[in-house]
Amino acid sequence: MAEGKSQNWPDWFLGAGKEVEETSEYFANARERLLKTGEEYVHIYPLQNQLLHYQDQLVQKGIINLEGQILKRHTELPSEFYVICTYAVAAPLRLFKLLVESKRFIIVHLLDSIYLNLANKNILGALSAFRSTIEHVSIFNDAITHVQKIAMPNSSNDALIVRTELEAKLAELTLGTRIDWNKFANQDLEAILSNRKNYTYKNAADRMDMTSDSVMNAIDRLNKKINTARGTYELLCEFAHPNIGATFAITESIETNVDNQGVVWVRKSIGIREPASFVSEFGNTICLVVKTVRQCIHHFEDLIDESSNLQNKVQTIVQIGCRELLTNTKDLFDTYSICPCASGEKIKFCCGKR
Ligand SMILES: [Zn+2]
Repeated sequence: MAEGKSQNWPDWFLGAGKEVEETSEYFANARERLLKTGEEYVHIYPLQNQLLHYQDQLVQKGIINLEGQILKRHTELPSEFYVICTYAVAAPLRLFKLLVESKRFIIVHLLDSIYLNLANKNILGALSAFRSTIEHVSIFNDAITHVQKIAMPNSSNDALIVRTELEAKLAELTLGTRIDWNKFANQDLEAILSNRKNYTYKNAADRMDMTSDSVMNAIDRLNKKINTARGTYELLCEFAHPNIGATFAITESIETNVDNQGVVWVRKSIGIREPASFVSEFGNTICLVVKTVRQCIHHFEDLIDESSNLQNKVQTIVQIGCRELLTNTKDLFDTYSICPCASGEKIKFCCGKR
């Protein structure tokens, strides 16, 4: 593939070994395969705060239950509320689509980052991107495995429970965070960043937080499929963190010589040119890292293939609830508008079908 070829890694890095050459080719082609399904993704959703604004009072009044299911229509409530509730039912499908498409593009960006860093003689940047790749593949592996294990619900009540659990899991994996993003809105950023209490998140049950533990556990689960994943990740942390690895990675040349007294002197040159000495000294290590990351990308591509079947599964689950809600709220929707279940079909031919 012509476009793939142009993404091949530079000779000084290919010199690390055969694995590296094979991976260069594989990554260039994987990039094209991952991009072939589309050029962009548009995520449509009602602003979360609109629903949260009503939720507590409405649960108390018995108009909706804790899962957001509408129990009865109420004339005092604005119609937009019912519309938002109906859309909210499809949150797991929207999250699933967002997760699949965002990971696909993120992996393409990481492949590009690896290539561009190497093209600029920057192995340190490439190694950081390898590390990040393992993290993203691990989280995606968790999400796909989770959806695979879900048993299809037998009743609409079952579907409600499955949907609520699925939404929480997908929200954590898709929207996970280490900081409190809400605090960054409309406030003095410098004041927020200068005080840890201002930006750290609370590890509350109702928050979708991604702790470093949850990422490490995800990598351990990936390690069951690719048994060098965790070890390679730990090794790559040496380059991403201010550890010795980073100094190794900027080593251009090493020469040793013995002086008249018999003392061995080492002359190490570090800088921003090709880290040729690092590559020749650590060729085997580089080959192993590259092989593991290639296996991760291979696994990622398998997961992406699997995700289209799973998307249908998630869609079926959310449509059970959506059909019910549409029966209660059908006069609020134009039957020729896009179905709130997020299938992309018109209501009339989807969940609003008679
Ligand atoms: Zn629908």
